[in-house]
Amino acid sequence: MIKKIGILGGGQLAKMLCDFANNNGYETMILEPSEDACAKHSATRHLAKAYDDKEALKELCDYSDVITYEFENVPSIAIDFIENLKANIPQGKNPLYLSQHRIREKNAVAKYGVKTTDFLEVRNKESLIKATKKIGYPSILKTCTGGYDGKSQWKITNKNDIELINIEYGEYILEKMVSFDKEVSCLVVRSINQEVTCFPLGENIHKNGILSMTIVPARIEQSLEKKIKDIAKHIIISLNIVGPLGIEFFIKGDEIYFNEMAPRPHNSAHYSLDACDYSQFSLHIKSIIGDTLPTPNLLTPVVMLNILGEDKEKIYALKESDDTKIHIYKKTEWKKGRKMGHINYIGSDLEKLINLARSF
Ligand code: ADP
Ligand code: MG
Repeated sequence: MIKKIGILGGGQLAKMLCDFANNNGYETMILEPSEDACAKHSATRHLAKAYDDKEALKELCDYSDVITYEFENVPSIAIDFIENLKANIPQGKNPLYLSQHRIREKNAVAKYGVKTTDFLEVRNKESLIKATKKIGYPSILKTCTGGYDGKSQWKITNKNDIELINIEYGEYILEKMVSFDKEVSCLVVRSINQEVTCFPLGENIHKNGILSMTIVPARIEQSLEKKIKDIAKHIIISLNIVGPLGIEFFIKGDEIYFNEMAPRPHNSAHYSLDACDYSQFSLHIKSIIGDTLPTPNLLTPVVMLNILGEDKEKIYALKESDDTKIHIYKKTEWKKGRKMGHINYIGSDLEKLINLARSF
């Protein structure tokens, strides 16, 4: 009987996972170095130690019936250590290994016939100049590892932009910019019993590289929605991944391009907390403990709006109601551009919800 869940990481995804766990009779321990990690407010216990601290990892293993992670940059030696202690970490390190590196993840899915944006590897300024000649404009340079919320990315629209980029020797990817019609994501889940299911697609709108809004149902043809869900399932099965996997796609005409993936709950599926019969956190836990995976149903149209640090005054002035669900992550510092919470607007008229979110 699984009762205690160990989580590597202590951000908002861990917090919401702990909230779900608390409401469903589980206990949780997070391993997260930061003393004021927001998940500490919801976890039963918080080990404020480094991810590779062997004593802390041992304590986590002793405590937990099952261990999972809430972000992709957990060092792989932590997973090795947990596996050596024969603790139960069903997702293993493979999903982390793949998703920690932008070129590796694109090559991994391309191997199974999934189309990605055109890209080249870049090491320094010289190879950037060469790569740009092949890829053309507009293109986007990203660090291969560690980037999130549009950070460590440079848009290149002309020769002048290249001159302004100052990069140290390292691992970068230069991608062709896709002038997409729509950006969507799919949260697909695969259980330890190989059952696979996915959430309705979210249509995503980014501002300054950060997810701003997710609209569900995505305003695309049903046949296209099905095609993308099938690609997401094909990816999770082919890569033999267990647990939740958030996959981002660009749609251009009939073409579907894989952008990136993350083996954890995904910001764009937070709508499931208020608009589905099962949330992504529920299916995350079910998938790693071997419960039957239900197909989550959308109960109502929904628009999820992210709350950033600069929205502090506005969010405290907003009233929660049956159709305006406010989630605040209890992070201590309200920094500009930092994700602090989200709102789920629910109701029958999707366009009205979009306008409500826009006028926040
Ligand atoms: P992050 O890890 O920061 O989410 P992404 O690769 O998803 O990195 O980039 C953030 C956003 O920037 C994307 O959601 C998309 O809006 C835009 N973007 C990134 N790469 C491309 C691309 N090749 N073509 C068009 N837009 C892109
Ligand atoms: Mg992204």
